[in-house]
Amino acid sequence: MLDYSEVCTTFSWEAVRASLQGLPNNSGLNIAHEAIERHANGPLRDRVAIRWLGKKDTSLELTYGELQAGSNRFANLLKQLGVNKGERVFWLAGRIPILYSVFFGILKTGAVFCPLFSAFGPEPIAQRLERGNAKILVTTERQYRKKIEPLLSRLPELESILLVDREEKLNEWVLSLPQLMADSSSEFTIPPTDPEDKAILHFTSGTTGMPKGAVHVHNAVLTHWITGRYVLDLHPEDVFWCTADPGWVTGTSYGIITPLLHGVTSIVDEAEFEIQRWYQILEQHKVTVWYTAPTAIRMLMRASADVREKYDLSALRLIHSVGEPLNPEAIFWGQRVLGLPIHDNWWQTETGGIMVANYAALEIRPGSMGKPLPGIEAAIANRLPDGTLQLEGDEVEGELVLRRGWPSMFRAYLHEQERYNTCFVGDWYLTGDLARRDTDGYFWFIGRADDIIKTAGHMVGPFEVESSLMEHAAVAEAGVIGKPEPTIGELVKAFVVLKPGFSASDELKQELIGFGRIRLGSAVAPKEIEFTDNLPKTRSGKIMRRLLKARELGLPIGDTSTLEGSAS
Ligand code: AMP
Repeated sequence: MLDYSEVCTTFSWEAVRASLQGLPNNSGLNIAHEAIERHANGPLRDRVAIRWLGKKDTSLELTYGELQAGSNRFANLLKQLGVNKGERVFWLAGRIPILYSVFFGILKTGAVFCPLFSAFGPEPIAQRLERGNAKILVTTERQYRKKIEPLLSRLPELESILLVDREEKLNEWVLSLPQLMADSSSEFTIPPTDPEDKAILHFTSGTTGMPKGAVHVHNAVLTHWITGRYVLDLHPEDVFWCTADPGWVTGTSYGIITPLLHGVTSIVDEAEFEIQRWYQILEQHKVTVWYTAPTAIRMLMRASADVREKYDLSALRLIHSVGEPLNPEAIFWGQRVLGLPIHDNWWQTETGGIMVANYAALEIRPGSMGKPLPGIEAAIANRLPDGTLQLEGDEVEGELVLRRGWPSMFRAYLHEQERYNTCFVGDWYLTGDLARRDTDGYFWFIGRADDIIKTAGHMVGPFEVESSLMEHAAVAEAGVIGKPEPTIGELVKAFVVLKPGFSASDELKQELIGFGRIRLGSAVAPKEIEFTDNLPKTRSGKIMRRLLKARELGLPIGDTSTLEGSAS
């Protein structure tokens, strides 16, 4: 994209659809066809699609042709296991090579891929498997033994578990994936797929209830394709690295689908963040386009400049960041230390793809999320007392809203129609984020309109954490907030009221932190506990987390007219 304004005036989603191939004989649109078959049946067949870097300095390359065969095998074995269209196949493992065959194999059959973050503890896993009616789970033996086996009685709908790292089955329904893959045919024809057929289910956290399952359809591929061009500027000769984990939406939309749509080589690093390792990957693999997150950037910023100087990053031409606010200092640091500014962009699980961005073709406004993707209408709105929306002009704070109907918009919260409906007012989808638009059309993030916590880029629902803590014998009540933290954005902090007979102590604090980690996993568990005699509540009994947070930060506590005990 060379001229943002011009592209906005001529843009049409029909033209985007026309750049995709579609299934043969006009039989619909399938993400797997666009990402894999199209290249595997053409000149890019032998190009490296995935270059996987293992934790222990091993590596593996998968070409588009190999991914075609692998995903066909997985599709065939799902058919043998009796998986039908629309049924959910869950993934609980890290960034390992078989993921890509599993992912596209599921999409080829018309079943639905549902990832779980591998650092989740048993409780978030059980919640999601139950709510998602998991029929098949693909995981590792370690995850199975540690987290799944104890949960089996809660999962009556789960029919088979496929272990990625076992050569032989454990029993009649805990099977060896390598064995099944070897016995499965590498020929498969994608059945007709309606663009509205379900493809991916991503759980995301809510403020009040348990996680919500955002349903995405094959038509989302239009957004993936066009953001790959306009935002990430991908071309087949690129080497692209998205650092997100497939347990989260960035890891599927941009860690799996988008780079392959554009025929690029996509780097996948199995290991966790480590400064030298990351610089080395950028240098050694000549990464040209890099998609990462503010927490990682802030960790790189903390390293001394001479670490960076050891590496040649001259191949790098574009850096994007997503998931949390990107401070202007990070953008200037990028320019100074990496030789390139960092482009912030905004989206969320429900939007399926990037919605607002700083583009290579536009001047970056440091601190701003950028401008809407061509084809996306974004606005700032406030709710009027009668429930309708008032669209605001420039420089007015309000909720960021998007005109409904873009291809990757979530189509449902699984089994929760009412919850889905409340996200929309008329033609507008309410994002839950507060923002403002400046007079040049750039959007600026202000904060969440609700109590959701963003910690190291991961969304955590306070209710999920509170519910879990309350299962500890000593806990009467818990209120959970995100406490600002300079590197990871926010850390999960719990205020705990103890039951009679228990008294506050450092030992109990440590015990509760440990309890949280075991049940919820390190990505979700509270890192800080504070004992308190009571929690501020509304008169209807809802914990006022906003107040807990204001107290924590020493800020004015704002409107407390609904607070329990206040005058009516
Ligand atoms: P998730 O659904 O987990 O991807 O989280 C989406 C949320 O992350 C958004 O609703 C925002 O609150 C936050 N977020 C994503 N990108 C940005 C950004 N560029 N700046 C500020 N917040 C962001």
